[in-house]
Amino acid sequence: MSKALSDDIKIEVLEHTSDTLKIILYNVPVKIANSIRRSAISLVPTLAVEKVIIFRNDSIMNDDMLAHRLGLVPLRTTLEKVRELETNNGKVSLLLKVKADKDIVTVKSGDIKSRDKDVKVLVDDIDIVKLAEGEAIELEMEATVGRGKEHAKWSPVTVAVVRGLPDIEILDPECGRGCKKCIDACPKGVLGKRDGKLVVLDRFKCTVCKLCEKACPDRIKVDIDESSSLLYIESVGQLSVDDIIQASFEELKKKFVELYDALKVVG
Ligand code: SF4
Ligand code: SF4
Repeated sequence: MSKALSDDIKIEVLEHTSDTLKIILYNVPVKIANSIRRSAISLVPTLAVEKVIIFRNDSIMNDDMLAHRLGLVPLRTTLEKVRELETNNGKVSLLLKVKADKDIVTVKSGDIKSRDKDVKVLVDDIDIVKLAEGEAIELEMEATVGRGKEHAKWSPVTVAVVRGLPDIEILDPECGRGCKKCIDACPKGVLGKRDGKLVVLDRFKCTVCKLCEKACPDRIKVDIDESSSLLYIESVGQLSVDDIIQASFEELKKKFVELYDALKVVG
């Protein structure tokens, strides 16, 4: 059954770094918050290597495999830069030129040089290919804007999860006196005792596995409240998590405008 959104939407931030965000969206149903999650996975634009021009490849790895590996190297930039490139249908050029003069050399992502100061390889220590003594590699790459729905290399999130809020009800207020069966059954340490009584220590750690309920079905009930949502997003690193959230909403808004325009044509 569908329910109207409440006016008193509230947000509680549990964790916020440049790459992670864990928030509770009170009075935002899971099915609504899920659209933000799905947009983050598949609609947010990022940059990734799409074309590789190989001038020299003496390595044991064939050209196709090498190009595929380079496409998966994450590139760090800002949403502003991605939008600018998208508007102008722009590309970013990157170069890779390594020679193994003596001994074996491992070509790393850090050897890739970007021609744009606003675009950088996210981490320097991704192994790309090994070169034997005397071998060399020389190539140019073009990074373009894309989305996770086209290929996972453009998806900016490693984790994107949404779920309802755990609802743990202790039916007997005197519970816990001389008993701790449910506390021992909980693998997440959600339950504990305060002044000898059973209490919920941290309900957001609860995975709703219901092991406590199974241990004592008459006195403890666990359910999931889907009228509010817990959203957790972790960035791969191409964009900050703030940029990902902003772009998720922008992309959703575009979808709704498209839908509205289509309805106007029909109706
Ligand atoms: S809910 Fe059951 S298992 Fe848990 S403290 Fe109360 S009586 Fe013991
Ligand atoms: S449902 Fe599972 S995680 Fe939640 S309190 Fe019970 S045992 Fe712990």
